[in-house]
Amino acid sequence: MFIYKLVFENFGVYRGRQEIDFSVSKESPIVLFGGKNGAGKTTLLNGLQFVLYGKRAANIGRTSADHEEFLIEAVHREESDDGESLYQKRKAGVEIEFEAVYDGELARFYVTRSWEKSGSESLTNFPEKLTVFQNGLPSEFLTKNWAEVMEEILPHEISSLFLFDGEKIDQLDRKGMVNNRFNAFIMGYLEEQGVATHFDALLSDNESQVKHLDMIPVECVVRNIATGSLCRRLGVEDGLDLEPPTFEFFLKNDELHDPMINEYHIASFGWATPAEVESMKVQTFRVNEILSKLFADGGMILVDFKLEFGRFSDQLLLGDEFTPDGCRLWDTDTREKLDKDRFRQGLGGVVEAYEEVALRLGVDLEAPIAA
Ligand code: 5GP
Repeated sequence: MFIYKLVFENFGVYRGRQEIDFSVSKESPIVLFGGKNGAGKTTLLNGLQFVLYGKRAANIGRTSADHEEFLIEAVHREESDDGESLYQKRKAGVEIEFEAVYDGELARFYVTRSWEKSGSESLTNFPEKLTVFQNGLPSEFLTKNWAEVMEEILPHEISSLFLFDGEKIDQLDRKGMVNNRFNAFIMGYLEEQGVATHFDALLSDNESQVKHLDMIPVECVVRNIATGSLCRRLGVEDGLDLEPPTFEFFLKNDELHDPMINEYHIASFGWATPAEVESMKVQTFRVNEILSKLFADGGMILVDFKLEFGRFSDQLLLGDEFTPDGCRLWDTDTREKLDKDRFRQGLGGVVEAYEEVALRLGVDLEAPIAA
């Protein structure tokens, strides 16, 4: 997807009709959009999401009332001549011109969304109008089915991975630091409790030193509560307590989407010896015991998690990492999700949740790192 132009008309801080040209050349391949607070950087991003996704845009609430309020609030307000009062324009809109592959072909799209205060002065009467042009011609079909068409071009669920601002980059950057320090804490704690791991030392905010393992291409998952793929596969109730906890093996293979496997597959394909399989199970359950208690003391339920192991001379060590990216953690009282599901389900507040988990366990994210 390549964006050529964004046009705002009386949208937020943008007064009248403002065109922003995003075309680039080989010599100048990037467009940077900067400005002081209040200059319209966030509005630009909001407008971009809104023109593409309408009421499903991430910056708008979930209900029709939220959508209506968004339309009302987004209309530019201007001071009256005497500077005494603010009055709102009657019409606002956002337009975008972009190129994308749709139906197997590269096409140029022009999408306009506008809304206008009609008839009465009532603020609640802003019918929204959408028009879509393809390769210069208006298309009734695309206009009618725009939500589905956009799902093909850039699915809404993953759009937040592309349409984000500098603030989000800062947050994602912080997530690396939080996870690195959190993992160091958990690995250290597990070592203290007698679980052998590959972890050696925290080197910096974003680096850790570990032993080089010959990894077993298998993921070990323990579940204390049914949720996620277990519920999708078996149709069991989400949130069901599992007593005893259940255990699953998955093959580490992105192309095959990490399929579930059993001990016979591991033996037949030689991914690990029977002794290694037994050791992985024992160690994973031991980690479950240790960490379930640790998280419970911090007011959290360890719902499920994934571990990976590898060979180091004649030992089998816990490898990879242990962070909220690879486990599920719920608040004990409210069952609020404090893990990667916040990201998977578009709930927001991902880094904040990870920091909350670290805080509850007493992980000092600011502690100086020994040289
Ligand atoms: P599920 O099978 O329900 O998707 O995941 C079970 C648990 O294992 C969750 O805590 C999930 O975060 C973790 N998990 C499963 N596969 C992966 C993976 O490939 N990467 C990471 N980071 N975690 C995984």
